[in-house]
Order: sequence, then C-alpha cells, then structure tokens
Amino acid sequence: MYSVVIHSPHDLRLGSMDSPGVPEDHAVTVRIDKGGICGSDLHYYHHGGFGTVKIREPMVLGHEVAGTVVAVGKAVDNFALNDKVAVNPSMPCNQCAYCRANMRNQCTDMRFFGSAMRFPHQQGLFRQKINLPAEQLVRLSAQTSLEHAACSEPLAVCLHAVRQAGPLSGKKVLVSGCGPIGCLTIMAAQHSGSHWITASDLSQPPLDIAVQAGANAVIDVARDASAFQKLSENKGTQDVVFECSGSPKALANAFEAVKPGGTIVTVGLGGNGELPLSLAVTKEIKMVGSFRFDPEFKQAVELIDRGIIDVTPLISAVLPFQEARAAFDLASDRSRSMKVQLDFS
Ligand SMILES: [Zn+2]
Ligand SMILES: [Zn+2]
Repeated sequence: MYSVVIHSPHDLRLGSMDSPGVPEDHAVTVRIDKGGICGSDLHYYHHGGFGTVKIREPMVLGHEVAGTVVAVGKAVDNFALNDKVAVNPSMPCNQCAYCRANMRNQCTDMRFFGSAMRFPHQQGLFRQKINLPAEQLVRLSAQTSLEHAACSEPLAVCLHAVRQAGPLSGKKVLVSGCGPIGCLTIMAAQHSGSHWITASDLSQPPLDIAVQAGANAVIDVARDASAFQKLSENKGTQDVVFECSGSPKALANAFEAVKPGGTIVTVGLGGNGELPLSLAVTKEIKMVGSFRFDPEFKQAVELIDRGIIDVTPLISAVLPFQEARAAFDLASDRSRSMKVQLDFS
C-alpha cells in the first residue's frame, strides 16, 4: 500500500509501506477514504515546516481524514466492520498537568498525526490503511459523505475558537482571513447565533466562498480599504473579531474594528508584529488566543454527520492520491482552491 511522504521542501513522493496487519486488542484498522490538505501540510511541502518545527526525516503528511473500519481488535465492542469513521488526529498524554486540568489541547507531551514537532516525527494519516486505537475514532452514520467528514478536524479548530469568544447570540462578528479556517469559523459563528457576519480578505475568490459559508457582507481589503475603515467608525463596530489570517497587520486592524469592550480571538498563527496596544487599554479590548481543540472534535463530527453544518462550499477539489503533488500545488493557489482533498479509495 501507499502513503504520501514529504522528504524535503517540494520533494513529495508516494512511499510504499507494509499493510498494517491484524489490529491489537483495543485498535481498529481503518481504510482511509478522503484526506484534506491543511495549511500545516502546505508549510511542510513548501518550507519543510514552520518556525523551529522542521522535518528531519521523511514524514507521512496528513491529519484530516475519514474512512471505513475494515478490521476490529478483540476488545473493541463499539465499532463494527464497515462503520464509517472520522479520525481524531490529536493524542494528548492524559497525564501531564494540563491534561489533568482538563486543558488537553495544551498537553506538554502531545502527539499529533503528521507533525514534526517530536523526533522521531509522528507519521501522518495520508495512507491507504492504518491501525488506530478505537478511542481516536468517531462513528458516522452510513449516509454521511466521507469528504464532508474529513473536514471535522478543521471545524473542531473553529468550534474551539467560537467557544473562546463566549456567547455570540445576537452579536456582530468580523472574520478576518477567509481560508478554510475562516470559512469554517463563519459557519461555526452562524451556528452559534451571530446576528451579522462580515468577512474580510485580501482577495475576492475566498470571499465568494465566505458568502456561501454564511457571511452577510464581505470586504476585499486590497480593493476597498475604505469599506474596512468604516468598521472602525464610532470607536469600532464589531462585538467579536476572529483573526484567522495570522497576519500581524490584520490583527492590528482588528483593534480598530472591534467595539469598546469587544473581544478579539486570534486563531491564525503568524509572525510577530506591532499592535496598537493603547487601543486595547482605551477601548478595554479582550484578546484571547485559540489553539487546537479537544471535546470540539466530537461536536464537529456530529454537526457534519447530522447535516447541521454543511461544508459543501468548502471542498474545491478531490484528486486521487497518486496525483498528490498536483493536489498540493492546487491547494497552494488561493485563487483556485479552498480545501483540496486526496482520494485514497
Ligand atoms: Zn488541519
Ligand atoms: Zn498531557
């Protein structure tokens, strides 16, 4: 069987590997069906990693997958053959101080599929079959699309961001940066009762998808900076800003757009830059980070499974895994794609 392996920047290859064999007692063999290419996969593809996290050995990419159960360990009684499942890629240790304090997304010994943070690296999920502990899986209904279910992980990230914002019912919300995480944040914010969602980005194609995701208004900041400036009238107009682009400039702009007493949630992970901190003081702005997820994974799967959140507008292309390189190039082009998936079936 095959996997999709990054060797060094732009050196992405199909790797042949042994089939996983009979699963251990508490494990299940999953035949991967669809896998979404994430921003972090693209960082490994283009730059070999991000910040201090760099690949130091070949690594199977991928952490956003869904598939079908094809073998069940002896002690597993909650999964059966042919069950469709979404895979939770996050494996906190359950023992460190943060895990014990119910902050498992802050685990100091986290293992996360397709991540070079540890050495040896935690190999990823872009492969045809894998044995996984049953506790990493969430069952789907038989009619659920595995393409949709493979969006559970990024949706979980956005549900966590919405939780960090506090109640959104009746609120005016700005989502800054409309890649997959921005668009899923729009869906999550709408689900949580936001009254009016404005989406901003530096280009038009992602904004077209933001509208399909549920944005009530969009601003192309590159073409119409004055429309964005209007958001800062009367000391700011937005109750909550979700900054999803990771751009320090966009985060600085959020300080202008947010109302006095409002909240900025930083979801995008970018570089460091200057922020108008005097506005944080005079407008009494609350700023809160959002990192990964924990119970939100199961919630994300359920929202997709029950058709409450429909991620259809997000999935821009599905390519066979044999064309992984073309898929990664396509996913890197924001003018042509939102979420690109690999088909392992
Ligand atoms: Zn992801
Ligand atoms: Zn831990």
